[in-house]
Amino acid sequence: MDQHISIAIDGPAAAGKSTVAKRVAKALGFTYIDTGAMYRAVTYAVIKAGKNPTKVEDAESILPSLQIELKEDGSIFCNNEDVTQIIRTPMISGNVSYIAAMKPVRLALIQMQRKMAEHQCVVMDGRDIGSYVLPHAQVKIFQLASAEIRAQRRYLEDQEKGIPATYEEVLAEVKKRDYIDSHRDFDPLMAAEDAVKLDTSQMNVEEVVQAILTIVKEKTGLEAK
Ligand code: C5P
Repeated sequence: MDQHISIAIDGPAAAGKSTVAKRVAKALGFTYIDTGAMYRAVTYAVIKAGKNPTKVEDAESILPSLQIELKEDGSIFCNNEDVTQIIRTPMISGNVSYIAAMKPVRLALIQMQRKMAEHQCVVMDGRDIGSYVLPHAQVKIFQLASAEIRAQRRYLEDQEKGIPATYEEVLAEVKKRDYIDSHRDFDPLMAAEDAVKLDTSQMNVEEVVQAILTIVKEKTGLEAK
């Protein structure tokens, strides 16, 4: 077995993946990698450059100079600017799926993601980690919950962070992203054949974390520190 263990956590928008993935990474002493933040950072960079986030040539033109850093404290830097907060705003959430549907963008970010998993143990969350980015990940989880439950959770999170959006707006955005993410031609959102599907509709964060840690122990023998 590869000495660097990878745990892939995929699923639709606002399924609670990042909260859970961060906790699982901390429990195991692994590095957490938020691939959604990387697509969000590209979206921000395209808009900041005054370019059109629905045009592939526009997005492609910023890729050669693009720098994305995921810092240990959870902050995200794009071209040396702290974008941690701004990439969560409705302007970015409303455009990110167009950017993420572009093959050149995906190929550039997937290359970075694979590199990150090469020399360290990671918990990586996204849409395509188990199915495409890390097909040999030792543990693959696909988190599910109804769109309404996911929107309600995201709406409450947004309220706490002071992000202005109504429940109806969040629900519409979650459904729109899921549709675009699962219908794109290249590398769509999907569960890997060997992923464990976890319906979290009736579970709280702690229960999901414990369920994943149990699966990790079964598959790798590793236990929380
Ligand atoms: O995870 P998060 O909701 O922040 O992801 C934002 C968007 O980035 C998703 O809606 C999807 O369009 C894209 N994404 C992706 N592949 C990933 C991670 C995110 O296409 N591995």
